[in-house]
Amino acid sequence: MNIAQRTELYRRLAAVNPNPRSDLVYGNHFELLVAVVLSAQATDVSVNKATAKLWPVANTPQAILDLGEARLRDYIKTIGLYQTKAKNVIKLCEQLLALHGGVVPNDRKALEALPGVGSKTASVVLNVAFGVPTIAVDTHIFRVANRTGLAAEKTADKVAAKLEKVTPKEYLLNAHHWLILHGRYLCKARTPECWRCSITEFCKYKAKTPAAGEVAVKPLKGKPVAKKKAAAR
Ligand code: SF4
Repeated sequence: MNIAQRTELYRRLAAVNPNPRSDLVYGNHFELLVAVVLSAQATDVSVNKATAKLWPVANTPQAILDLGEARLRDYIKTIGLYQTKAKNVIKLCEQLLALHGGVVPNDRKALEALPGVGSKTASVVLNVAFGVPTIAVDTHIFRVANRTGLAAEKTADKVAAKLEKVTPKEYLLNAHHWLILHGRYLCKARTPECWRCSITEFCKYKAKTPAAGEVAVKPLKGKPVAKKKAAAR
């Protein structure tokens, strides 16, 4: 995919969703950080359900510490890996207070030093909270990057590095959200909805899903392609 095609691909994603936002519900940097930590290997929906009850009770590092690990566990017990996450969030709150005055740091190294915060979580927080043009690769972005050919790589780190290199600068800040939302709602793992995809002409995925009324037919050589069904007489 050349630069003109990549630019047009992002222009179309931007046209569909000019102001992309995270699906996570948060009201300040601390809530965002904790929500992203809780969302590791869990759905945003499950995190939002838990935090809808947690935030009104405790949404600062001190309030979470006052709540204590056992009660925190209770609030987040519907989220995968909640026991480990509760431990990490408590330690994270302690460190935020001890080292950063309770404020989420705008610094990758400081973020990654917090318990439960890896490079992906740090990237999301830097991007969403502080407007740093960085791309964190989750399962959705990994799939979209590989299918489209934007960044056909074998590991999430390599995909992230490639995407940050090939994404036109003017689209870099929001690329993370455009790609994640595209993968979550349209370029789905099992059945991508290629028939209504705005970037289909740039996408290198061979087995595109045909629209209803079209059938995937196998040519003599190569992969299936979508062909219109003969009209019923
Ligand atoms: S054409 Fe299909 S596979 Fe390609 S990005 Fe769109 S939905 Fe995904």
